Amino acid sequence: MLLGMQAILFCALCGDSVESVDHLFTSCDSIFRVWYKLARWLGFQFFSPNSITSLFEGFLGISMNRKFRLGWMLVWHAAVWAIWNSRNDIIFARGTVSIVDTLVEKVKLSSWKWFLAKNPGNPCSFYEWEVQPVLCWSR
Ligand SMILES: [Zn+2]
Repeated sequence: MLLGMQAILFCALCGDSVESVDHLFTSCDSIFRVWYKLARWLGFQFFSPNSITSLFEGFLGISMNRKFRLGWMLVWHAAVWAIWNSRNDIIFARGTVSIVDTLVEKVKLSSWKWFLAKNPGNPCSFYEWEVQPVLCWSR
């Protein structure tokens, strides 16, 4: 029900919290697990972010050299993109909530495609990307 001119939007993914950028991209229960799995995939220790800013800074802080930084940024963008699309699917296309593993797979696949588009000479297969992406981008 609308109260005055303001509608309160609840998070499309969990339905439990009022939607905010920080909730949707970091603290929402399923999204938190997506970041956790991505950090494990990339071989880094996961820290628990309380805002999208601290998550972004965490991503930047971990990367030591330029190649690592670019690789991290690629995954960061792919993850934010996948989270945003899945939220919009639920709201506008009556999609269902993607399970954590589906989102993680989407991030791996689109980051790999973007990586190849930016590095056409790199022979990294999707298998290698899934197993050890850091090796692909440090070639
Ligand atoms: Zn939520």
